Amino acid sequence: MSITERINKIRTELPDGVTLVAVSKTHSAEAIREAYDGGQRIFGESRPQELKSKYELLPHDIEWHMIGHLQTNKVKYIAPFISLIHSVDSIRLLEVIDREAGKCERVIDCLLEIHVAREESKTGWDYNELLEEVQRGSFSRFENVRIRGVMCIATNTEDENTVRDDFERLIAYRNEVAPYFGKTFDVISMGMSDDYPLAIECGSTMIRVGSKIFGHRSYK
Ligand SMILES: *Cc1c(COP(=O)(O)O)cnc(C)c1O
Repeated sequence: MSITERINKIRTELPDGVTLVAVSKTHSAEAIREAYDGGQRIFGESRPQELKSKYELLPHDIEWHMIGHLQTNKVKYIAPFISLIHSVDSIRLLEVIDREAGKCERVIDCLLEIHVAREESKTGWDYNELLEEVQRGSFSRFENVRIRGVMCIATNTEDENTVRDDFERLIAYRNEVAPYFGKTFDVISMGMSDDYPLAIECGSTMIRVGSKIFGHRSYK
């Protein structure tokens, strides 16, 4: 199957209200162009410099999403054009995004990445620490960022019950903090190539699919 066929197959299976982010990290501008010509407009990347060079090469009606861990000193590369940052996991990072967005006279949409996986290595907020910051009002002082929802990466396992439990915990956490953020807190980013049908069943509104569209890649 071609990239276009694979993307169309996934798209036709998606219920209303679920957005597909095509994760194109490591793949060439030509591969992205093929998906673009097939109608896909939202692409996810995980490295800021790679993201910036693809932005420069490709049509400007693409919505670029940053899905990987973001270092504060790299925010400047993507601030002028990024549509959504999925991976906000500290107040310090949010401060830098707010400042860089301000310089570009933009408001940048962000998601709070919450740690739900059983592995230690996964990134994201510890939920209790996040809840403390939320209750303390730490998110209300930013003028150039808008917190649009939550994101998680589930445990990397074949065991469906574990993955389902991760997704359900994200939903429960989301529901607990949602009242602090208002009506535009409406994005739940969960589900990747191996687990997106389950994520949708659990309430995902945005899935991030890479290898199932573009094939194997050289780094995670
Ligand atoms: C790479 C990546 C994906 C896509 O993974 P696939 O298994 O290839 O679909 C999704 N989300 C994040 C955060 C990623 O880094």
